Amino acid sequence: MPHYVVGHKIPDSDSICSAIALSYLKTTLGEETVPARLGELSPETLFILDKFGFEQPELKTSYAGESLYIVDHSERTQGPDDIDEATILGIIDHHKLGDITTSTPLECWIRPVGCTNTIIKMMYDFHNVEIPKNIAGAMMCAILSDTVIFKSPTCTTADIKCVEALAEIAGIDDAEALGMEMFKVKSAVEGTPVRDLVLRDFKDFDMNGNLVGIGQLEVIDLAIFDDIKADLAADIAKLKAEGNRHSVLLLLTDIMKEGSEMLVVSDNADLTEKAYGKATVDGKVWLDGVLSRKKQVVPPLQESFA
Ligand code: FE
Ligand code: FE
Ligand code: MG
Repeated sequence: MPHYVVGHKIPDSDSICSAIALSYLKTTLGEETVPARLGELSPETLFILDKFGFEQPELKTSYAGESLYIVDHSERTQGPDDIDEATILGIIDHHKLGDITTSTPLECWIRPVGCTNTIIKMMYDFHNVEIPKNIAGAMMCAILSDTVIFKSPTCTTADIKCVEALAEIAGIDDAEALGMEMFKVKSAVEGTPVRDLVLRDFKDFDMNGNLVGIGQLEVIDLAIFDDIKADLAADIAKLKAEGNRHSVLLLLTDIMKEGSEMLVVSDNADLTEKAYGKATVDGKVWLDGVLSRKKQVVPPLQESFA
């Protein structure tokens, strides 16, 4: 039986490219490993796979009795539902340490860098394995996506150096231009059902016993939401009720203005006041300079629930 590599639910480009890159590395090292995914892919990820000639990883949601590597998260709410019945061989991640535990020893690569693929590049270097051209391209795109083309406060010099090295391997002259092309694909929301947009990059967190869902849409101009903002707000209210959530937040991130408008539905009227020092007015609040869910949105919120 092969081993699997799988990222988080509602997979993003980092989860998918990490699964592809790590499974190639493991297989090259003699351990047959295949990439998998827990859900449908975003237009951005499809763009990357198409550009570098990859098939979609296998859709696999159940892992009972299997052995797997977890990438790009370590949270029970974000992993496979039956993860307790699987053997976790390793975790490669760049988020806060979550609540996944194991009953056997595991390989753990957790670093506070901008992208899981930056850590996987370190693993290739550690094992002295050459990265194929197309895998290097996909890894590079994932880093550009997660770091918002180096603008995110999560971005480190390791990420920037890694993109330079991968661009060279992949034969790409202008990595940042490719990054912009990718964010243009990501910004195309016209004709997409509202619920699909809300769930495009959505994560649930357990905050001191409260289920909090946080979605994010990163675009190059917030004006594209003008006509649908009211529908987005109505839909996150529905999502909150359906999932028995304490709160649902939707970050509309403007990567050029470098800030986010947050749409808020919550059982706490003073949620954003408490967490970010800014009150929610008419269900929304502008958070200047906020680009990163993991670094700027989750930690203060988590603290406010403590
Ligand atoms: Fe991710
Ligand atoms: Fe990531
Ligand atoms: Mg992201």
